[in-house]
Amino acid sequence: MVKYRIEVDRSKCKRCGYCYSMDSIHFEPTPPIGLFEKLYAKLARSLFLNKSRVVGGSLDKSKSSGTFNDEKIELAREVEAICPASAITITEL
Ligand code: SF4
Repeated sequence: MVKYRIEVDRSKCKRCGYCYSMDSIHFEPTPPIGLFEKLYAKLARSLFLNKSRVVGGSLDKSKSSGTFNDEKIELAREVEAICPASAITITEL
């Protein structure tokens, strides 16, 4: 077992959806948070997916994070590497 923390910097997230498409164990889309995000999402709903969050983790406007203790860290690291916004950080604890 490996204990690790995943953080998503939601202020950098580009809503591409790669992370939660590739790895639904650690990442999921979130409904928009805050007035600007809600307006933006409404205007661009057909063009953009939602921002990412960590499954079962904490969530606020700018960040989502969560801790895992399993053998799936390599999957999370693959997603960290392909995030086009460098918004994902994996830290082994
Ligand atoms: S891969 Fe990166 S930019 Fe794309 S939705 Fe996930 S966190 Fe956001």
